[in-house]
Amino acid sequence: MGRRLQEAENDEVKASLSKCVRCGSSDLEDRDVEKLVRGGDDVVALRVQATVCHHCGERYLPDEAVRALEQARRDVAQGKVGRFRALGRLLAPQPDPAG
Ligand SMILES: [Zn+2]
Repeated sequence: MGRRLQEAENDEVKASLSKCVRCGSSDLEDRDVEKLVRGGDDVVALRVQATVCHHCGERYLPDEAVRALEQARRDVAQGKVGRFRALGRLLAPQPDPAG
């Protein structure tokens, strides 16, 4: 996820959105996607607009979506969760007692 966010901030990528940078397909669609951002132990699911490649599935995020995700990550990392509602639990494997 981090790598794609960085790519979305790259001007070269944004300028060539008529074509997928990854696979070269021009079969692109603008639509809402769900992105998960993590701050500390909390995760926020945000719907943001993205350009999605139908051929390879790559997603390109506009600057405002990247900013919204970064803002959510900062807020959650600082415990500012008032504008979010709890959906469920975030589960991770138990620590390996042998490790
Ligand atoms: Zn593609």
